Amino acid sequence: MSDVLNLVRADLAGFGGYSSARTAKLSGDVWLNANEAAWANPGDEGGSCRRYPEPQPAALVTALAELYGAQASQVLVGRGSDEAIDLLVRSLCEPGRDGVLFTPPVFGMYAVSARLQGAKAIEVPLLDTDDGLVPDIEAVIAAAIAGKAKLVFLCSPSNPGGKSVPLADVVRVATALAGRALVVVDEAYGEFADEPSAVSLMGQYANIAVLRTLSKAHGLAAARIGTLIADAGLIAVLRRVQAPYPVPTPCSALALAGLSAQARALTAQRVVQIRDERVRLQDALAQLAVVSRVYPSDANFVLARFHDAEAAFQALLAAGIVVRDQRAAPQLGDALRITLGTPEQNDRVIATLCALKATA
Ligand SMILES: *Cc1c(COP(=O)(O)O)cnc(C)c1O
Repeated sequence: MSDVLNLVRADLAGFGGYSSARTAKLSGDVWLNANEAAWANPGDEGGSCRRYPEPQPAALVTALAELYGAQASQVLVGRGSDEAIDLLVRSLCEPGRDGVLFTPPVFGMYAVSARLQGAKAIEVPLLDTDDGLVPDIEAVIAAAIAGKAKLVFLCSPSNPGGKSVPLADVVRVATALAGRALVVVDEAYGEFADEPSAVSLMGQYANIAVLRTLSKAHGLAAARIGTLIADAGLIAVLRRVQAPYPVPTPCSALALAGLSAQARALTAQRVVQIRDERVRLQDALAQLAVVSRVYPSDANFVLARFHDAEAAFQALLAAGIVVRDQRAAPQLGDALRITLGTPEQNDRVIATLCALKATA
């Protein structure tokens, strides 16, 4: 039994989860064990949805394992990485006792899942440095130990901060917290970064897990396909906690089509283009008098501070451009996060903010 299994809630030891009609490994050519309809719905051309899906579609698990450089046994497919975050918190944290550590300003789902589970939220603010918003690694380690964190979320590249966490820092946290906490590296934007995936560390450090998603670089946000890569024993536990049929057949079919060699090649080209656009938007924003700071970004968005963020937000809105208002986030009272769009869309952002300068 691997060490990380000791991090699972004690009361879930031996929990078998729901035993679905698809759990038992039976074979036959007439399936009358799940009360499914005998005929397909006329709206279901091809009839692919008449029967319940495989809980973890084998072809998709294989494709995702290959995509992310993991073993199939280390992969859990869920309804977006959001579901994986929730499964981790529910499976590892005892309400009222265990903690979930994250580094604000950061993606909101860690806090939401912790709150819903009644787990303590342990917040270690990012440091605003010349290199951008970065985690305070020593403070993360100290707070995790003091607050009995079972989970430490490192968002890399971070949303909305934009910076990758160097693998050396991930190793420092994982080493210091071995036996105490699982270090979850959320790589939702990993495709846009230079830093290698923390999956490469998992052979050496069993308490590292990685979140990936098809929602961002792969352009399949509505398919809701997220992947957790973790210790195989832990994945087996989480599969028992997960809902019975979490991956709808049309979604896994779409994901498989989106991971064909041809689709992946096109996605890779688009990532290159977004990275070029990132430099272009950052350079343009840095020239504007209305902008007070442009943060470095390893992701598909740019975070910037404005002398008058409200005026900038409203000017963009009036031009039909909706960006993310970050002003309610800690440390970001004057900041907007702009997702990189097509070159034409980015041109519109730049032109709108240029015009704002003229009237300011
Ligand atoms: C967008 C995002 C996700 C959510 O991904 P889904 O797979 O669509 O649930 C996870 N983490 C971060 C940091 C994100 O920005």
